Amino acid sequence: MTTDKDCIFCKIVAGEIPSAKVYEDGEMVVFKDIHPLTKIHLLAVPKEHFAALSEMDEKREALVGRMLGKIGALAPSFGLSEGYRVVANQGISAGQTVPHLHFHLLGGETLGWEK
Ligand code: 5GP
Ligand code: ZN
Repeated sequence: MTTDKDCIFCKIVAGEIPSAKVYEDGEMVVFKDIHPLTKIHLLAVPKEHFAALSEMDEKREALVGRMLGKIGALAPSFGLSEGYRVVANQGISAGQTVPHLHFHLLGGETLGWEK
């Protein structure tokens, strides 16, 4: 599996940087965002390192499909049963700061919609 020794999320996946993990399996980790934008703000991260949706291939498509399926199934256990938003920032102009694919799970409150 591809990892990047300089990547902050690879370090979180490996347990080299502490994080508040709420779920982990063989291919995905979900942990609390360190700067929450909403009452509940989680990050769902594949264990494999790749930068973003711009780097998809067939294996990663299947992986991301499974991740979204698990997110849907697990959301109530994360306290997100009232609804939530899934966001992937792709690239600098979208505000991506960590170049390791991740889905923001935002909820725990009523969400507005701004660009
Ligand atoms: P992006 O801006 O790339 O879409 O999202 C990166 C997210 O990672 C940000 O919301 C930021 O707060 C979060 N983040 C950055 N460094 C850390 C860290 O060391 N631990 C945790 N838990 N979250 C982090
Ligand atoms: Zn990484």
